[in-house]
Amino acid sequence: MEEVAPEAAKAKTAAPFGTAFTSRMTLARYSDGQWQGVENVPVGPLPLHPASHVLHYGSTCFEGLKAYRMPDGEVKIFRLDQHVARFQRSAALLCLPQPPADMMEAMIREVVALARDDIPEAPGALYLRPTLIGTEENIGAAGAPSAEAMVYVLASPVGDYFAGGRGLNILIEDREMRSTPGFGQAKTGGNYASALRHVVRARKEHGADQVLFCPNGDVQETGASNFFLIDDNRLLTKPLDPSFLHGVTRDSVITLARDLGYEVIERDFTVDEIKDWIRTGEAALSGTAAVLSGVGAFIHDGTRYQVGDGGVGPNTRKLSEALRALQSGRTPDRFGWLS
Ligand SMILES: *Cc1c(COP(=O)(O)O)cnc(C)c1O
Repeated sequence: MEEVAPEAAKAKTAAPFGTAFTSRMTLARYSDGQWQGVENVPVGPLPLHPASHVLHYGSTCFEGLKAYRMPDGEVKIFRLDQHVARFQRSAALLCLPQPPADMMEAMIREVVALARDDIPEAPGALYLRPTLIGTEENIGAAGAPSAEAMVYVLASPVGDYFAGGRGLNILIEDREMRSTPGFGQAKTGGNYASALRHVVRARKEHGADQVLFCPNGDVQETGASNFFLIDDNRLLTKPLDPSFLHGVTRDSVITLARDLGYEVIERDFTVDEIKDWIRTGEAALSGTAAVLSGVGAFIHDGTRYQVGDGGVGPNTRKLSEALRALQSGRTPDRFGWLS
């Protein structure tokens, strides 16, 4: 393992999210019907046959989770079990071999241990990206699962992605879908490819930061985060169904909000309800990268609807701070989420 000076770790977190990596990763291959041994390899180009299943038929899924440095210097991973379980569900939806939970947990822990000196102080973190790809060399396998696969765990030191005082601009898209009713719950490349042109258009034509997908008025989620309406007493979010990604941050926000005395309402709701809610309430996006981000304004059919004063609302701040404090070990780990 290479020693990295603190200045180097600091410089790395100044890089845009997801562009700086630690020097080693863990990797395992699946062939002959089983997972072969876990290797520890340098981060660098992977030899892939041009006929690899993933390159043609999109057999890939990933995870995104974080390891935080605690005030005492120890490093802990946030909700590792939940992320591994979701990785396995994504793999199953893609007909890829499911990496066993104990193998995945060991691979992730090894990468964290290898990167130990590279992990910034909170609110920075080590972002971990387990990735699974189908590697069978067969362009005739459009209708067959990849018989071979590779899983690796990449790690990236990251800074603080909290938008701070700025509220995000969100375009409401009520015609197009991000994914499909059954596949939205898979964390798979194809879903981002499918949403991308809508996100690009929203940015270009409306200056929006993100798109909130609400097919036929049903409020689902944005391209990479879950959605909440919040006020002084309540949180409203869509109940889990296969159409959208079941965020670990979503679950954590819900659990913490209940603990803080908020009423959590999980039901389907419409774009019209968003417009009513934001006359007095708040809106926020949740995800591992930015935790909980406030929405400053929505854009729908060419009209701008400001949320509160356009900044991040007080309840969004309170919940965000409560979760961040827990993740970084500044408050007790009451739910056993750090390991
Ligand atoms: C990863 C992701 C989320 C957020 O999930 P977390 O577990 O909270 O990071 C939400 N929506 C989509 C589409 C995602 O890919």
